[in-house]
Amino acid sequence: MSVKLVFLGTGSGKPVPSRNVSSVALFREGETFMFDCGEGTQVQLARSPLRPGALAGVFLTHFHGDHVNGLPGFLGTLGLNQREESLAVVAPRGLRKWLRALRDTNILGTNYRLELTEVTEEGVVLSGDGYRIEAHALDHRVDCYGYAFIEDARPGRFDLDAARALGVPPGPMFGKLQRGEAVTLDDGTVVTPEQVLGDARPGLKIAYCCDTKPCDGAIALARDADVLIHESTYPAGNERTAHKRGHSTSGDAARAALEGGARKLVLTHFSQKHPGVGDFLPGARAIFPNTIAARDLMELEVTRREV
Ligand SMILES: [Zn+2]
Ligand SMILES: [Zn+2]
Repeated sequence: MSVKLVFLGTGSGKPVPSRNVSSVALFREGETFMFDCGEGTQVQLARSPLRPGALAGVFLTHFHGDHVNGLPGFLGTLGLNQREESLAVVAPRGLRKWLRALRDTNILGTNYRLELTEVTEEGVVLSGDGYRIEAHALDHRVDCYGYAFIEDARPGRFDLDAARALGVPPGPMFGKLQRGEAVTLDDGTVVTPEQVLGDARPGLKIAYCCDTKPCDGAIALARDADVLIHESTYPAGNERTAHKRGHSTSGDAARAALEGGARKLVLTHFSQKHPGVGDFLPGARAIFPNTIAARDLMELEVTRREV
């Protein structure tokens, strides 16, 4: 079992043929979660192996065009596709007003329900079967939140030998212990799950940190993340310009990954003035070697750690 990431757009500012603007899709056990929805995202999605029908939620970091302009068209297409299930849309304050204006001007006609959440503080913004999504405040030019997709911890491994040694008969009692319930043997002995289960195994944490200059929220997102997707608008060495504009360099992204103890860093949101990723990678890898650069339609399989 794993989680798949598909990078739908990896550029900042405006779309160009080789790089669309921001969007990342996360696919897990039949459900898709979309982070940002820049212009043209639905075309990118159609070019990817993901199907929009499985979409469970859209999470917008902030109201800059390169992160949200694709949403109205995409929501309209879902309506044309006869979507019936409701869809969660999470974004900072302003979401309701924006969508109301689109409805009032007849631009947005959806026949399915939108479950809107305006993020006003850090915390869990959506939870489901075995996962939750947390928002962390970032430091950009407008209200901005990054998101972390966090799976619940899984029960520890079942120690067959320990169970046998304690006299637990194979069968339903094994299942009960695996589910975390104590069992009573025929002779009255009580066996608890702790006696036969190893330590709980952590689920995956995938963090999306976009757009921001270096800040505590970025470190919180990076904390123990299996994958940190971090904006890298400018190559390392351009910190002054980047920070003045509320952005990060590839070096800043690497420092956040290092400080937070992330396991892998994926750079994205590249300035379109730099068509290749060669300008971004060396400065990041010098600080955090396990860094890759996202490119449009890149797929990344993330597998759970075994401990
Ligand atoms: Zn941006
Ligand atoms: Zn922005």
